Amino acid sequence: MTAEIIDGKAIAATIRGEIKAEVEAMQAQYGKMPGLATVLVGARKDSQAYVSMKKKACAEAGITSFAHDLPADISQADLLKIVQDLNANPDVHGILVQLPLPDHIDDEEILGAISIEKDVDGFHPLNIGRLSMKRREPLFVPCTPRGCIELLDRTGVKIEGKEAVVLGRSNIVGLPVAMLLLHRNATLTICHSRTKDLPGVVRRADILIAAVGRAEMVKGDWVKPGAVVIDVGTNAVDDPTAKKGYRLTGDVDFDEVKEVASAISPSPGGVGPMTIAMLLRNTMDSAKRAVGMK
Ligand code: NDP
Repeated sequence: MTAEIIDGKAIAATIRGEIKAEVEAMQAQYGKMPGLATVLVGARKDSQAYVSMKKKACAEAGITSFAHDLPADISQADLLKIVQDLNANPDVHGILVQLPLPDHIDDEEILGAISIEKDVDGFHPLNIGRLSMKRREPLFVPCTPRGCIELLDRTGVKIEGKEAVVLGRSNIVGLPVAMLLLHRNATLTICHSRTKDLPGVVRRADILIAAVGRAEMVKGDWVKPGAVVIDVGTNAVDDPTAKKGYRLTGDVDFDEVKEVASAISPSPGGVGPMTIAMLLRNTMDSAKRAVGMK
């Protein structure tokens, strides 16, 4: 069997087009534009690259960016003040603080200071609480987990009643994506570094979400024939033949697993583009709430 490749780039492009149309409708009806503030502290190359991709995607969709590129030695109090000012700015509908923050910054305090109404990353503990509880709606579904579910939905994969295995239990990916699958009535198993017989547990999955941060760990014989596999992993591995000296790869051994699965999202080119599309989606949803647009 050769799996259907779930093309995250193409699906994300469709979603970005849908958002652009909504931005135009908002401007026509309400004379307002959605706005996203990005807060970048320091000069980490990877963080700069992520923020610049997000700003570019905003510009393409017609979302206004408010960029705050701050020195690495900014004080806790000054950073807090910037977040508070953004909370109070009615043109800003989403606030994104790029992680990681420098060591001297208490990131829990900074993230906790973002107004829950503008927390488009969805990491606020109150928001995660609502996401985890039955019959409670979070204001925002965190972008990467939301992107995983969108990939399944837009590929026509039924979730209800399926055995879903999530590999990883981090606050930003594993845990929220597991909660989303549970609310969609999957039967859920969450694996982590202490799980015994990982390949045996993973082999139960009709739907496998791999978010572990270990290059190509999931092998072909870990996967049930016909399973749907979403690879969240983004790992840099040395590659002297590549221009930068490294290449990016997922948590799944793509070449092996594509021969066993019925569908697979590659990495890169799967969840990554969806994460950015979902950030735009969350910003747009927040702006719609602010202006009262259906
Ligand atoms: P974390 O390091 O926060 O969490 C990794 C999880 O995997 C932990 O729960 C850990 O278990 C588990 N784990 C680690 N090693 C093993 C092992 N050998 N066997 C079983 N479980 C293990 O990572 P993130 O959740 O932040 O990210 C996961 C991957 O997803 C990374 O490659 C990251 O780059 C990528 N990512 C991609 C995004 C995208 O937009 N495409 C966005 C965010 C992340 P334990 O809890 O026991 O320590």
